[in-house]
Amino acid sequence: MNYHAYYPVDVVNGEGTRCTLFVSGCEHQCKGCYNQSTWRVDSGHLFTKELEDQIIADLNDTRIKKRGLSLSGGDPLHHANLFAIKELVQRVKLECLDKDIWLWTGYTFKSLSPTQRAIVKQVDVLIDGKFEQDKKDLTLKWRGSSNQIIYWVRDLT
Ligand code: SF4
Repeated sequence: MNYHAYYPVDVVNGEGTRCTLFVSGCEHQCKGCYNQSTWRVDSGHLFTKELEDQIIADLNDTRIKKRGLSLSGGDPLHHANLFAIKELVQRVKLECLDKDIWLWTGYTFKSLSPTQRAIVKQVDVLIDGKFEQDKKDLTLKWRGSSNQIIYWVRDLT
């Protein structure tokens, strides 16, 4: 997996103070996409074990209390990212007590494959769906257009 950016302290993408990772790779090609440079899976930088370890350490750093990890992109559920994202969310759940995981994807919840669903089961909040320019709404929290849905995953299971 490649990634475009990692912010160890972020207050924009989800509730509370968070660590946020923007991965590479997205096949949705939404008109008006704010992040086209992330579309290619080989864009950005290689996501290494060292960065994975750093994310775990940042989440557990008590100097600035983090509420959790946000995964965006690009699309964390792009097929090229599934293995690395699965490993990362499993580590966060095992090694970071009381941290939540938010994940943004251009796929709709209903269209997810079994492999994608297995990852989503381990996250806490899912924001799904493509960005649709004619439904763009700047007043919405954590999403760009009104077709996108915020799922509290515990309510789905
Ligand atoms: S899902 Fe997100 S990153 Fe992908 S094309 Fe749509 S807006 Fe851009």
